[in-house]
Amino acid sequence: MGPILASLLKLQVIEHDLAHVRRRLRSKQNAVGAIQRKVDELKARRDEMTAQARNQQKETDQFELQRACREEDITQLRGALNRTRTNKEYSAILTQINTYKADNSKLEEAILKVMEGVDTVKAEIEKVNAQMEAEQKRCDLVKQTNAEEVAKLESMLAELQAKRADAASDVPGEVLRVFDRLANAKDGEAMAAVDVVDAKREDFTCGGCYMSLSAEHFNALLSRDEIRHCDSCGRILYIDAKDLVR
Ligand SMILES: [Zn+2]
Repeated sequence: MGPILASLLKLQVIEHDLAHVRRRLRSKQNAVGAIQRKVDELKARRDEMTAQARNQQKETDQFELQRACREEDITQLRGALNRTRTNKEYSAILTQINTYKADNSKLEEAILKVMEGVDTVKAEIEKVNAQMEAEQKRCDLVKQTNAEEVAKLESMLAELQAKRADAASDVPGEVLRVFDRLANAKDGEAMAAVDVVDAKREDFTCGGCYMSLSAEHFNALLSRDEIRHCDSCGRILYIDAKDLVR
């Protein structure tokens, strides 16, 4: 293998490790994000239910006020009843009292119903609160464990990046740009070995995408140190050391 492909292959080994470390770092960060979103969702639900309970409480207070007013009216009418002189007046006041009493029993029913609703919502709030606390604890724990892991991965990343810069200095600029573009597009796998399925039959495949390759690639790479791309996936092709000894 010529110096260009050899330097690229050295770079590819580092790039492969880099991609692996980056993936692990991403998954650690995503894990925290997912739990944090769950906590936020529960908090939003709790706030919504708290507002609902508050509104129901307001409604109850209004009904209570109406009922108290009616109660006062009834007390006054009872006083008037004692002062009446005619039967007609007496029965008219009595009818009014009964109407108010009926109103109040309706209000009492309504108050009971709303209060039941308040109790249900309050119980639900407690449940959501407990869930939220548990998730928050889990989130803090994951964050803490992750922080150590993330720090470790970040120092690995820095180390590999320095190694990569060092290895990249051996690669010609134009070739490096092609390599970088492929590494970005293919999650760190910029290169692929030519897999020799059957050399006598000139049966070759790309080790990156497993599509068949023309023998021309293999034959050229045997003698020349040049950049050749797989016709299907575009990765830079090389011949593995074991296949060079033939
Ligand atoms: Zn390919």
